[in-house]
Amino acid sequence: MELDGKTAIVTGGSSGIGRAIADAYVDAGADVVIANRTASEGEAAADDLGCRFVQTDVSEYAQVESLVEATVDEFGGLDVMVNNAGIGSESTVTEMELDEWERVVSIDLDGVMYGTKTALPHLMESEGSIVNIASIYGLVGGKGAAAYSAAKGGVVNFTQQVAVDYADDGVRVNSICPGFVETPMTKPLLETERFYNYVKGETPMNRPAQPAEIAPMAVFLASDHASYITGANIPIDGGWTAH
Ligand code: NAD
Repeated sequence: MELDGKTAIVTGGSSGIGRAIADAYVDAGADVVIANRTASEGEAAADDLGCRFVQTDVSEYAQVESLVEATVDEFGGLDVMVNNAGIGSESTVTEMELDEWERVVSIDLDGVMYGTKTALPHLMESEGSIVNIASIYGLVGGKGAAAYSAAKGGVVNFTQQVAVDYADDGVRVNSICPGFVETPMTKPLLETERFYNYVKGETPMNRPAQPAEIAPMAVFLASDHASYITGANIPIDGGWTAH
């Protein structure tokens, strides 16, 4: 199996895209630890998927450090860090309260940096890899998502920077930039006709994605098949950024 013998952490692994990735990693033979803020949701998902759960708020550096330490203590190392946990936001700059900016950036950007900083020493030992979940909004502007776009744009450039800095150490760093995916994050938006039509209209494939359409790329990027791929920000967007 593609990830046999590898240990992976998937933040936000109890729901949506992260859950599909954790599921696919378990199927590919990896030992998987999922990390979420909410214990009940995380424990239930870990039971369903056959993986471990460590309660973690990715916007708290000490908690991310403990997550990585607990994983390394249990499995003897770390091969793959998936920085997936995130929240959405839908405000323009003038609509946005300052605390929305701070909340979104602390989870969607600081959380990715914390996961990267705490995982890197172990990934340098294992010659492992990082998969960040960015967004098409990190590549192009969207509609009214100022804080989210700033954070995801940060993830895209951070991915390239860390890839360059640690290529000599054998660590590969890539991101996936999904278009709209049907998950608990987007469900309330996609249930409104106006927003669903906006997504349909902007997507040449005329539909949002399912989480299972994102997960195979996360398996590939973490596997030895991707041994020469680093610093890539890969859209999986039904053609959104091509048009
Ligand atoms: P989701 O809401 O289904 O899942 C997000 C997960 O992150 C949840 O498990 C949640 O508990 C966890 N989480 C949130 N804040 C956290 C925190 N502070 N600490 C730890 N865990 C936390 O959403 P999703 O759509 O699956 O999103 C997953 C990732 O994909 C996010 O980074 C999101 O920005 C990105 N993304 C989603 C879409 C989409 O259309 N759904 C598109 C592009 C990118």
